[in-house]
Amino acid sequence: MRKNRIILFDKDERTKAISMLLTKGDGIEGIYREADDIRKQNMGDEVYIRGIIEFSSICANDCLYCGIRASNMSVNRYAMNADEILDIARTMESVQQTTVVLQSGETPGINDDEIGAIIRRIKHETNLAVTLSVGNRPYKTYKYWRDCGMDRYLLRFETSDSDLFERLHPDCSLDERLECLYALKKLGIQTGSGFMIGLPGETIDILADNILLCRKLDLDMIGIGPFIPHPDTPLGREKNAYEGDEDMFFKALSVLRIFNPDAHIPATTAFDAVFPGVGRNLALQRGANIFMPNNTPVELRKDYILYPGKPCVDESIEQYARSVLMRIESIGRITGKGHGHSIKRNRDIE
Ligand code: SF4
Repeated sequence: MRKNRIILFDKDERTKAISMLLTKGDGIEGIYREADDIRKQNMGDEVYIRGIIEFSSICANDCLYCGIRASNMSVNRYAMNADEILDIARTMESVQQTTVVLQSGETPGINDDEIGAIIRRIKHETNLAVTLSVGNRPYKTYKYWRDCGMDRYLLRFETSDSDLFERLHPDCSLDERLECLYALKKLGIQTGSGFMIGLPGETIDILADNILLCRKLDLDMIGIGPFIPHPDTPLGREKNAYEGDEDMFFKALSVLRIFNPDAHIPATTAFDAVFPGVGRNLALQRGANIFMPNNTPVELRKDYILYPGKPCVDESIEQYARSVLMRIESIGRITGKGHGHSIKRNRDIE
């Protein structure tokens, strides 16, 4: 057994996942159709809109692929205050968004108590569900934020291969990341994770294991997207492992849906960066059921570029929201009403 295979997967399932990923020609359309059918049966035709606010570009970590890593001195660092965040949250309600996703670097220049106060205010002053995505934290911090009203937490593991993980993340091990995910689940917080497709050094075996790890973790939400090299990072000259075979990005999404029938799966922005104007529509037709528009103030978006080619950097929240509604309608789907919480079983809350 290889040292870096820290998680044992069922051999038959792994073989099935790999063979689906490698399917060529007509078989691809069959996988897309199967994923779309499973999405429809389990999640319905609703597309829930979860608006992101990138509230701080400050990060103490140095993940090798990330455009806002601490060592990138060309980034202008900002941190929004509570009133600025609340103003956007109120606007979101008027454009049919039912969840706010607060995202930042891992040491965002706002302390845990201040984040807790922001969660409380959003829950008190709006009807939005609150998702947080601010990195690895101790159990007690997640518990505190849950008690403030946080509904969900996103923390991608990025790769299931521990050696590759440690090469890319000098500040953290895969075990530490998984510990955080298990803590969130234990606390009954709706837990989201996911991975990048095609990190340099990734193999089909690793990609299959990424999909199976999502299943093993029994996640409520799973976000995946292609690796896109950022020029101001150590991986700036690297290529996606599937360059020239970009169908692999959608195959990964569809196989993910087939193995995770009842998880919320967003059509992530990175699909539009690789397939401008159509990537997220295709993702919604190949297994995804969530759309996450960017609600960060236009003047700050240029300072939160995790990878190049992010779409819609100049559109206001209202313009962006209108175009999202049109996109959903154009593919025959409907905008989800209500919060679109996890459809999985109720969990025991400690
Ligand atoms: S991926 Fe997250 S934790 Fe890593 S450098 Fe970027 S913002 Fe920081």
